[in-house]
Amino acid sequence: MRLIFHGIVNTSSDTIAAISTAPGEAGIAIVRVSGPASLDIADRIFKGNAPLPSKRPAGTFVHGFVGTSGDGNTADLDEVILLIYRAPRSYTREDVVEFQGHGGRACAKRVLRMVLEAGARPAEPGEFTKRAFLNGRIDLLQAEAVADLISARSDRAASAAVEQLEGRLSDSISNIYEFMVNAAADLEASLDFPEEDLPPALIQGASEQIDFAGKRLGELLATWGEGRLLREGALVVISGKPNVGKSTLLNCLLETRRAIVTDEPGTTRDTIEEEFILEGVPLRLVDTAGLRESENIVEREGVQRAQALIKKADLNLMMFDSSTRLECDDLSRLKLSNPEECIIVLNKSDLGHKIDAKDFDGFSTVSCSLLNGTGITEMKSAIAEKLGIRDFGAPHAAISERHRHIIQEALGKLNEVSKVLSPDSEELLVPVISTLRSAIEALGTITGKNYDNSLLDNIFRRFCIGK
Ligand code: GDP
Repeated sequence: MRLIFHGIVNTSSDTIAAISTAPGEAGIAIVRVSGPASLDIADRIFKGNAPLPSKRPAGTFVHGFVGTSGDGNTADLDEVILLIYRAPRSYTREDVVEFQGHGGRACAKRVLRMVLEAGARPAEPGEFTKRAFLNGRIDLLQAEAVADLISARSDRAASAAVEQLEGRLSDSISNIYEFMVNAAADLEASLDFPEEDLPPALIQGASEQIDFAGKRLGELLATWGEGRLLREGALVVISGKPNVGKSTLLNCLLETRRAIVTDEPGTTRDTIEEEFILEGVPLRLVDTAGLRESENIVEREGVQRAQALIKKADLNLMMFDSSTRLECDDLSRLKLSNPEECIIVLNKSDLGHKIDAKDFDGFSTVSCSLLNGTGITEMKSAIAEKLGIRDFGAPHAAISERHRHIIQEALGKLNEVSKVLSPDSEELLVPVISTLRSAIEALGTITGKNYDNSLLDNIFRRFCIGK
């Protein structure tokens, strides 16, 4: 991994501890401890062969037991392997010890309790990674990549997070940042010249650097759609009248029998949601209640939920039975739909064609017979195409919503600067430099060159405890 040293050294005075493995039955559970008292705590609660943990070198792993031995009573709580890391060569850049004990509900909790009694305090969510950031081992983009990697729901999302963790996005941002800082320095230098001697090359050079930075920021902005899909997934809703084949479509796409399929209209009265990975992108696929007028209160509630979901969806798979004619309410539903976010699915092609693609001018259509298994490959391609997945190329780090806001702000300011910057605009140099400096400051919050506590709280609260 490429490490970025942003020079912040924040050696914490307290020692934190948490169970770093997921709860539940498993082979191993890890209790991680980080901070100045880590080795001292290990000395007090770890029982193994001499020497004591604090006298052992970094990189040691040693077998023993965790237990109490006061008051003449000895009680071992778990058999463990103790791992020793010494600052700065650890995840947090602090002294770290890890107790690898038995998995399950009880063991790790007992070890953690002992560690806390010996002087550590419980870690907050993401606090180990926060320390890695504060101690200058990783920047904020890399810290965010850790959370992305843990929550990645597809192979592609994991690969993109690893790219970010390795520093690809940090490098791009740092490179743009440098161009902006150089441009600001050139403009500041030009303030020292009297108006008539202002060297045009200095302004020209700054202007080129600003244009380059703007272009590169524009390219990064273009990765936002991909980043959003990989992190959050897309919401894909299957809608249509009862009995057109919505539940059958859900089952076909998932390749399971998740939803109940019957001839009885109105069987799916609430929504059924399942995750489905399409070309490396996680999709939340929702089978909605059939859209029809109903006296039944449960069904009516289902229809309302379906309509709310359709509004929120990234993509609506609007299904029709191609063997029955379009009705007035179908046409009004179509009028209200955005063709950019909709695919018309003409199912039951085996039963004849009373409607076809011509009836849906401006919409993408797919004809299928789910009963015979035809048209499913075409449907998956149409979904990938509509969501833009086809344009993604090889997995790469892509920006998040937080980064998008900041880049838009910085880009807006750069555009303001570009508009007025010229060798004849000497009187505007001071405000131009100030705008450029605020763009630089904004961009610095992406990598954490500058940050405040609320920014850190926002980022680290989405981490799990123990990371
Ligand atoms: P939903 O109410 O829209 O969820 O519809 P279902 O998926 O429950 O399907 C309703 C009925 O249509 C079931 O009996 C399915 O077996 C049948 N069906 C689904 N797809 C097709 C198809 O392509 N052709 C034919 N002939 N029947 C289908």
